[in-house]
Amino acid sequence: MHASTPLPDQRLRLERVTKRFSAHTAVDAVSLDLAEGEFFCLLGPSGCGKSTLLRMVAGFETPDSGAIRLGETDLTALPPHRRPVNMMFQSYALFPHMSVAANLAYGLKGLGLSRAQSAGRVKDLLRLVRLEGFEARRPDKLSGGQRQRVALARALAREPRLLLLDEPLGALDRALREETQGELRAIQRRLGTSFIVVTHDAEEAMALADRIGVMERGRLVQVGPARALYERPASRYVAGLLGDVNLIDGRLGRAEPGGIRSVETAFGLLRASGEGEAGNAVVIAVRPERLIVRGEEGLHGLSGLLTEATFLGDRIRYRVEMANGTTLRASAALPAPGPIPAVGETVTLGVPAESAWILPA
Ligand code: ATP
Repeated sequence: MHASTPLPDQRLRLERVTKRFSAHTAVDAVSLDLAEGEFFCLLGPSGCGKSTLLRMVAGFETPDSGAIRLGETDLTALPPHRRPVNMMFQSYALFPHMSVAANLAYGLKGLGLSRAQSAGRVKDLLRLVRLEGFEARRPDKLSGGQRQRVALARALAREPRLLLLDEPLGALDRALREETQGELRAIQRRLGTSFIVVTHDAEEAMALADRIGVMERGRLVQVGPARALYERPASRYVAGLLGDVNLIDGRLGRAEPGGIRSVETAFGLLRASGEGEAGNAVVIAVRPERLIVRGEEGLHGLSGLLTEATFLGDRIRYRVEMANGTTLRASAALPAPGPIPAVGETVTLGVPAESAWILPA
């Protein structure tokens, strides 16, 4: 066995990166450490600064302050073409008059490859995105998903350390999106290249990412794996961004063993998980699929009036009106284990303490 030299550290590090457009702070002191080979998603609504942050990593925008490093290299002042980083745009930007092979070969220009070497690389790239045999096709004779894969292959042609993708699946319809998400993930795993994807679609971020970074008005407000963000959001904003959620106002009571807290709400006492000082105003976040709706009265739980029960194929969606007029949304997977209550019935609502998460008000 030979002694292996460790590969140079190629982690991306953002240190308080800030960008202002006149009075508006588009990116506000964002710090982030990416692991090598990580698939990271920046998630947030339109205008929160995702693209601006990505463009600074690519080198198309210069930060007003802060630093961007890749391993030991300070990228902050390097022009885009000098960075071991590539960016794939939503519009794909393929040359319509060139064949698929010529589009890919264009991405290899300047690497000093011979014609045969370039042709070999084009073949490898097409195999990577499962488009062998499409060399001679023109982009306009490809489906949306195929065009997306050619664009991906071209973005990977120069073997960047880091690939940045701005809403890469935005132009695809739902079915194709799901399929392409799986492919993108598989390609990224096979190459071990770090990916940063920008998206406003939480489900997409959850399907793709090792970790998700949530942006709110220029700030990176929470970073973590999908499950942590979904189940333990740091704020109402993150809770709502990751999926449907009930937000219930309350006042924090005493601590019970196991970190469970009682919370007084306008429609009764709940048990919930999380931290805070007794007496503080809090918000309880509960996902609809975690609420348990039972037809019988008198079970342990809160009672309410069932005002809606909508059949949705794989699940049923409920609305329950509580004593003080608050409406809670619940959903149950189908087929249901017991009888399904009818609209107009009084039902019992179970709120498991581990699924009720305490947030600051
Ligand atoms: P979207 O998903 O709509 O692209 P985003 O989260 O990527 O949104 P950015 O495009 O980064 O958001 O924009 C962040 C903010 O900065 C927005 O308010 C936008 O109007 C502003 N902005 C972006 N680029 C410029 C620019 N070149 N000049 C002035 N303002 C800009």
